[in-house]
Amino acid sequence: MSRLSNYLSDPLLKGMYDLVRETGPVRPISLDITSKCNLRCAGCYYYAEGMDKVPAHRDDEAFDRMLEKEKARGTNFVTVVGGEPALVPGRLRKIYRHFKMNVATNGVIPIPKEGLEDMPLGIAVWGNHETDAQLRNRGQGDLFRIALDNYRDDPRAFFYYTVAPGHAHEIEPVVEECVNNGNRVLFNYYSDVSGLGGELDYRRGFNLVRGEVDRMVSRYPDMLFTTRYLNEVVTTGRLNGQTWGYDVCTNLTADHPVNAERIRNGNPYNRHFRAINADFQSTRRCCTGKERDCGSCFDTWEHFSWVMINMRKHLHSKQAFSDWLSTLFAFYVVNRLVDYEAGLDFLSQAQAA
Ligand code: SF4
Ligand code: SF4
Repeated sequence: MSRLSNYLSDPLLKGMYDLVRETGPVRPISLDITSKCNLRCAGCYYYAEGMDKVPAHRDDEAFDRMLEKEKARGTNFVTVVGGEPALVPGRLRKIYRHFKMNVATNGVIPIPKEGLEDMPLGIAVWGNHETDAQLRNRGQGDLFRIALDNYRDDPRAFFYYTVAPGHAHEIEPVVEECVNNGNRVLFNYYSDVSGLGGELDYRRGFNLVRGEVDRMVSRYPDMLFTTRYLNEVVTTGRLNGQTWGYDVCTNLTADHPVNAERIRNGNPYNRHFRAINADFQSTRRCCTGKERDCGSCFDTWEHFSWVMINMRKHLHSKQAFSDWLSTLFAFYVVNRLVDYEAGLDFLSQAQAA
């Protein structure tokens, strides 16, 4: 019996594995749906590198052409970023009609349900009410409160909680509030691209944060999309002997000349992926940067991809395979790539194990 067959004699692992296999391969892109935003958060990678400096379109012809091109290329999953997607609900509906998708929103402008009934929505929160208001709104107005009110008990919505190294003590109350609001939580880790330093400085390390996130997974196994293994990989930057950085990053625009050397270095990468700018024509190095220092990159979606593509590095033990599969499975559930209710059930069992 092969190692894989042996691991799959466990009914929980088999259940998750079969659901993923039924879904088939994910062929993803990330798309800046607009270059405009109603906020200017301190630490936004998009504006830090001036990625909004692309020609604006008054009509949607270029957008429609790009969607047709991506359909023909076989794309089946779109991570929608920007800019603020809630400013262009018509474009969201066009994507929703043809692709699986996930949307990153600041949560301040409600995204209508009509025509977007089961669209996964990750709502940004960057700390407790005070921290979040400081970082995202210069201390003016409680954006977290607005987002909680806009998305209370909305099954599409989960909070995408970006936590800074010095803010581990905020984690439990923030998660409690999200859960009590009827929303699940996925963690992200603050990069401090604006160089604010102090408690926000990623060079302090995320050890305390890692401990608290693990505790939340244990406390709310049915409400967290983060797995303990994903938390470990992002906060240590280590995956089975490799160290996180550009040389191993998997979510690069594969056909962009800037990445040619990386593509040739032999490490796995996502062959389909493109990060498409808001002119709907050009692409850039990766979703979260043009020339950004990769040492500041703790982006959860990119680390999901790093884990997912490296199945072979996780076959040496049942625990390693289980870590790999439950993390991949969390990605499939949060993005509704598998049956959502069945997926939630399996995921909460895996988190509780
Ligand atoms: S809401 Fe998002 S896109 Fe807008 S400034 Fe903040 S991080 Fe950037
Ligand atoms: S910034 Fe992050 S996602 Fe972009 S190339 Fe660097 S490591 Fe990869």
